[in-house]
Amino acid sequence: MLEELDSQTEDIGKKLEAEPPLPIRRHEDEVYEWLENVERIKIRIQTIEQLGERKYLSRAHLVKLVDEKIGEVKELLQKGSLYSEISMKKQFKYVIIGGGVAAGYAAREFVKQGLKSGELAIISKEAVAPYERPTLSKAYLFPEGAARLPGFHVCVGSGGERLLPEWYVKKGIELILSTEIAEADLHSKTLTSSTGRTFEFQTLIIATGSRVIRLTDFGVQGADAKNIFYLREISDADELVEAIRAKKKGKVVIVGGGYIGLEVGAAMRINQFDVTMVYPEPWCMPRLFTKEIAAFYEAYYANKGIKIIKGTVAVALDADTNGEVKAVKLKDGRVLQADIVVVGVGAKPLTELFKGQVDEEKGGIRTDWNA
Ligand SMILES: Cc1cc2nc3c(=O)[nH]c(=O)nc-3n(C[C@H](O)[C@H](O)[C@H](O)COP(=O)(O)OP(=O)(O)OC[C@H]3O[C@@H](n4cnc5c(N)ncnc54)[C@H](O)[C@@H]3O)c2cc1C
Repeated sequence: MLEELDSQTEDIGKKLEAEPPLPIRRHEDEVYEWLENVERIKIRIQTIEQLGERKYLSRAHLVKLVDEKIGEVKELLQKGSLYSEISMKKQFKYVIIGGGVAAGYAAREFVKQGLKSGELAIISKEAVAPYERPTLSKAYLFPEGAARLPGFHVCVGSGGERLLPEWYVKKGIELILSTEIAEADLHSKTLTSSTGRTFEFQTLIIATGSRVIRLTDFGVQGADAKNIFYLREISDADELVEAIRAKKKGKVVIVGGGYIGLEVGAAMRINQFDVTMVYPEPWCMPRLFTKEIAAFYEAYYANKGIKIIKGTVAVALDADTNGEVKAVKLKDGRVLQADIVVVGVGAKPLTELFKGQVDEEKGGIRTDWNA
């Protein structure tokens, strides 16, 4: 392990001094601290070895010290490999940013069209291979027989083959997970991750999807309390599932009467929560449902014990001394008790990475509709 640490130190030292500067320079302070820690631990290990040889320490004490140092060396090696990677450029013919539904289906299509091994990379902020996102507000929340990965990786949603992580390996597609792209330079065809790794592409597919609109975006007071949930990624759904367990049969307020609101409202009722839904429109899903269709669903929900409050919005949230949400204040003056709040008030396409580099239209990126 120490030899490995030595070669990392040498490699990282060279990268720090390279001209022109490599991306690792952006992390200069922490890398220098890492180098100092490596020196310190090497000296400490030498001292322990000498004390051991001279039998100044009991065997048990020696074993304990060695164990501790092994743990520290492992940690340093882990950090070191991250710093080593920072300055490594990876090049691909095709890169897809985003590892969601579009990315998974696109990968399948690439393979159909004769993709060669090593040509395609999918870079995703999420920690898992592309999956059918719609599951998160439905079967993922069931109290029994809930859907879990790997059961709903794409493309099962369309009745197609389930693409497990091994499928990508077999097809020579590099799945780069838990990696957020922080900068995209379309001119130099380079992407830089939040940890400084760089990726070059010939052709880029933007599949970053959307981000949820938050109550904080509207300046709703107290919207940063605990147990207020949004649903976009699997990690959000996991947090909600955890809260469902912790607040068993409690009270939930659902803010929003769209798809997410209606689906999560139903799921929470199935989990035996006392559910109240709030939305400003005169009926649910106004962009899709006529008044009559909405009336059918609202009656169905009411029949299942779900309370619906229309024509008003949440203006503030109160928290208890633990910072957990306890009530939702409405614009019309009503106050709803809540152990959990789930917000589904829409989403916005993630276009920030490409600002000024692409044409935008209706809040999204304009595409060539003739293509
Ligand atoms: C809970 C829920 C339920 C839904 N239910 C339905 C439904 O029943 N029917 C329906 O038709 N549609 C539904 N939708 C909508 C549907 O899921 C989306 O239309 C679809 O996921 C869009 O696919 P996408 O690949 O464009 O984006 P997404 O699937 O959102 O994937 C985007 C990916 O990009 C990643 N990403 C974003 N920024 C970066 C970055 N800078 N670097 C790296 N990675 C990044 C994200 O982490 C994510 O993995 C639902 C959506 C949600 C959230």
